Amino acid sequence: MYDVIIIGGGPAGLSAALNFGRGLKTALVIDAGEPRNKVTDESHGYLTQDGVSPTEFRKIAEKDALSYEGISLERDRVANIEKTDESFTVTTSKAQYNSRQVMLAAGIRERSPEIKNFEQFYGTSAFYCPWCDGYELRNRRLAVMVDENSINHMPMLISNWSNDLIICTNGTGKISDENRELFKNKGFKYNESVITELNGTDGEVDSISFEDGTAEKIAGMIAMMEWDTQFDFLESLDLNRGEKGEIETDQFGATSIPGLFTAGETKTNFAGQLINSAANGADVAKFMIMMLIQEDY
Ligand SMILES: Cc1cc2nc3c(=O)[nH]c(=O)nc-3n(C[C@H](O)[C@H](O)[C@H](O)COP(=O)(O)OP(=O)(O)OC[C@H]3O[C@@H](n4cnc5c(N)ncnc54)[C@H](O)[C@@H]3O)c2cc1C
Repeated sequence: MYDVIIIGGGPAGLSAALNFGRGLKTALVIDAGEPRNKVTDESHGYLTQDGVSPTEFRKIAEKDALSYEGISLERDRVANIEKTDESFTVTTSKAQYNSRQVMLAAGIRERSPEIKNFEQFYGTSAFYCPWCDGYELRNRRLAVMVDENSINHMPMLISNWSNDLIICTNGTGKISDENRELFKNKGFKYNESVITELNGTDGEVDSISFEDGTAEKIAGMIAMMEWDTQFDFLESLDLNRGEKGEIETDQFGATSIPGLFTAGETKTNFAGQLINSAANGADVAKFMIMMLIQEDY
């Protein structure tokens, strides 16, 4: 019986594992080896690791966590979690494991917009997060995908890195007269038609095409992704969720099921950054360890 099973070996899960090791507890990290940032070659904004490749980052993180006695990692996919009065049973594609606690650090599920060729450019010249990749896209001609919720915010935010913008609503609605006027004054182009296709070579996008038959030259894109935490392996658990489908937790990551915690992007239900997930994984782990110490005292 492990003290904890950590589902997900990203920055949240591995940072938690490191703290479990230092807290003299046993932890099994189960990781499917499919990080969301696998599509990109560089990660930015993590102090001491700025520009590191996601693969290298994970390698170092795994080495740090696995250097502690009692910490192990299985490259496997979790299929189910069951809770009994005393413990959890976690079933993977290969085996079953038991633990006193479970940490969900599986990140978020991501869906790309349905645009032909989008995957060819995602992570190299099409991104969603200006804090991660805005610097690399600075002063380029960018398509900025928006909907009615982001149209007031996103063009303003992205204009910090480039003023050469084409605002694309991708057929989600009409741009208000006020915004048309604003975009004209700012020198931004806009298009309300559905985006049909991206083109370019070697991961560098160079044009965007629309259903209205027009096309624009671009050198980068800020896209809109969709995210959720509706993982199949959580189906048999009766987890409380909030209005947006987020797993309800308190500030320490505790869910409505005693002993089951969330950390990193699974906790926030939103795309953040490596540094936030790593920090949160550590915080939640320390709280979980406190609970174990208290139970055993
Ligand atoms: C294109 C792109 C560019 C990015 N650029 C940056 C950047 O420059 N700087 C930055 O700080 N951040 C960047 N990010 C964001 C960063 O990758 C995330 O914020 C961070 O990885 C989240 O960490 P996490 O531990 O919460 O989840 P993740 O890193 O997503 O880890 C979750 C892990 O859980 C595993 N998992 C999921 N389901 C299961 C299952 N059923 N069984 C077992 N394992 C499972 C996955 O395989 C994955 O390894 C970028 C992301 C993308 C997509």
